Amino acid sequence: MSQPSPEVHERDRGMDAHNAVMRDIRAERDETYDAHEPTRVWLDEDNTPDGVKTSLTIILNTGGCRWARAGGCTMCGYVAESVEGGSVSHEALMDQIDVCLEHEAENIGASETPREDGDAVDAAERADLIKIYTSGSFLDEREVPAESRRAIAETFADRERMVVESLPDFVSAEKLSEFTGHGLETDVAVGLETATDRVRHDCVNKYFAFSDFEDACAEAADAGAGVKAYLLMKPPFLAESEALDDMISSVERCAAVDNCHTVSMNPCNVQRYTMVDELHFRGGYRPPWLWSVAAVLERTADADAIVVSDPVGAGSDRGPHNCGECDDRVQTAIKDFDLRQDPSVFEQVSCECERTWELVLEEETGFNQPLAR
Ligand code: SF4
Ligand SMILES: [Zn+2]
Repeated sequence: MSQPSPEVHERDRGMDAHNAVMRDIRAERDETYDAHEPTRVWLDEDNTPDGVKTSLTIILNTGGCRWARAGGCTMCGYVAESVEGGSVSHEALMDQIDVCLEHEAENIGASETPREDGDAVDAAERADLIKIYTSGSFLDEREVPAESRRAIAETFADRERMVVESLPDFVSAEKLSEFTGHGLETDVAVGLETATDRVRHDCVNKYFAFSDFEDACAEAADAGAGVKAYLLMKPPFLAESEALDDMISSVERCAAVDNCHTVSMNPCNVQRYTMVDELHFRGGYRPPWLWSVAAVLERTADADAIVVSDPVGAGSDRGPHNCGECDDRVQTAIKDFDLRQDPSVFEQVSCECERTWELVLEEETGFNQPLAR
């Protein structure tokens, strides 16, 4: 893969040390990827402001996030999935979209899953909701040229909703109008991670401020688009209780921003070639408890936004987990909450390990200074 290099973003932000470490870690990876294949594509269903929809999620393989090339976020292994040379042509990006459309056509029936009321989700010919992630920013023209962005908007013009991922810097009403102009309900997914600037800066090593997120929400509103905030539960260097408090206040602050209608809280998982991985390997990091995820959802259930969580790797040592006995049940309750937004789902799950979790909340600190000489 191409050599990561410092970017203008990192200068004068006091982030050089984290970035230097992250560059070294990422440089250990040397696999390369085909620019004509998407990184991943799958069918699922999602809770949207218009109800539960069949969704096609696409992870486009682009040149990778420019912040990741500078070093980047402490938990993010995404750049490692980008391509040799650092940029992808319009033709290659459109080939990736074709592969995704073929995947949809071949698998749409398989997305049928039984609902609570016993009915099945309609096996539509195509997904109503298209979500595009790029391991970076879809709206960054160094990753996705304007020509490709417009062609992709046209390709999906007959769907109902689109979600595109972007860092706040690249969000503009003009770019989003290319989607809303086709009558698409459009959302920008912003990896805010936390509403607390200090945690975003020092624990996640992400460079922007909460005020930039608020500005992006206003830009999106100008184009008639909405915003979906992605939060990261328990970045490194926070104790379990600090992570829990940080998420509760972050969900509340995001929900209070005009035009931010959905908050997706992702519990941190241990990805390879990241600082989190190095810490985890040395016993310095544990992903959050699923009880903490449930607690945030329960305590923010009255926030003025849809709040969801999709714990990746739940139940494994490298993902959010409890004791091993109750993980599946708690994860099922979380999925149930995602679709119904009813906090009573958590009353139906319990386990002895809740007592351990409570003790951890009381006693764990980010760094146990000498308590006494
Ligand atoms: S989390 Fe997002 S901004 Fe951070 S390095 Fe990964 S892709 Fe880039
Ligand atoms: Zn348990």
